[in-house]
Amino acid sequence: MIYLDYFSTTPCDKVVLEKMIPWFSEDYGNPHSVHAFGQKASDAVEHARQQIATLIGAESREVIFTSGATEANNLAIKGAARYFKKIGDERRRIVTVATEHKCVLESVRSLEEEGFEPVILGVDQFGRLDPETLKEALQAPTLLVSIMGANNETGVLQNLPVLSKIVKEAGALLHVDMAQLAGKLPVTLERVDLASLSSHKMYGPKGIGALYVRRRPRVRLLPLFSGGGQERGLRSGTLPTPLVVGFGEAAEQAAKRLHTDIEYISGLRDDLWGKLKVLFPGIELNGAEAERLPGALNVCLPEGIRALEVMAKAPELAVSTGSACTAADVTPSYVLTAMGFSDEKASRCLRLSVGRFTSKSDIDRAVTLLEEAVRAL
Ligand SMILES: *Cc1c(COP(=O)(O)O)cnc(C)c1O
Repeated sequence: MIYLDYFSTTPCDKVVLEKMIPWFSEDYGNPHSVHAFGQKASDAVEHARQQIATLIGAESREVIFTSGATEANNLAIKGAARYFKKIGDERRRIVTVATEHKCVLESVRSLEEEGFEPVILGVDQFGRLDPETLKEALQAPTLLVSIMGANNETGVLQNLPVLSKIVKEAGALLHVDMAQLAGKLPVTLERVDLASLSSHKMYGPKGIGALYVRRRPRVRLLPLFSGGGQERGLRSGTLPTPLVVGFGEAAEQAAKRLHTDIEYISGLRDDLWGKLKVLFPGIELNGAEAERLPGALNVCLPEGIRALEVMAKAPELAVSTGSACTAADVTPSYVLTAMGFSDEKASRCLRLSVGRFTSKSDIDRAVTLLEEAVRAL
């Protein structure tokens, strides 16, 4: 099998797994207990918190552990909206973008039932939010703006340095879904109030993520769950020490290898793109004019070649059409639809994503498999 689906998830790095093992059955204390078992686990959790904070340039107290980026996004958006409503703030507008992950879009949409006003902005043909579109939406008093750093289908980056200024000038809070961005490119928290991270997108274990919550000036949220008040009252529940330790190590590895990974991964990606262009005259690169993640290759195959049929003829190749959440769906990717693609064009699009453990021979084999698949069609 050739795995070219690193944007849906990454394998847990062996180095990360090694660090996790003892925390399952040797050092099993509850990190919230006061005795020595608990203290040891708590120290490991705090070390991991610092490793994650370092990756994104935060203080460790600003990192709140969650079960993943889905929960972090829900907590950021619903938590902020509900807090401001509770203290009597009159702003109700919540702004986001049509190409966001479902968990952001659905969190924003769901707030309508609670009296908020969701506003979902369109993108251009390359998947970028136009700063003028954002400015216009912020003419009305706005509570929160949620913009992803990098898209999980196309790898397209939003222009955060410019967009974040507009959000701050309008006096709104800015939340950034960094699930795909963190650990893959350098990140900044300048003008960012809340940011979501996911461990399994950066070679850590699944089931753990974090929300960055700015302390200066302090961003306040209402928690989603009632309970023991762990994580500074924002996320009750016993922390899963092995997962937290793994996430911390994954963050440290990502920081250490950042520039090596960027160079290696974008080199392989460019190699693959070069070969695909030869194999499929007329193939198009989606998001071509936008800045993109190093491993991103979302392509539109020439007319008459449907992506799902190619995938069916190349079962040894793990790639996808849309995101993993909606892959089983036959409806076209809403991300590509938002970029103005017709259903027919979207049905020809394939998402290939390259990562740290992809080899040169994986790329060659993938090209051969695609060639055979198209010949069989
Ligand atoms: C994967 C992903 C999520 C969801 O993260 P989980 O940790 O799997 O819940 C959210 N946003 C983006 C952009 C993602 O790629």
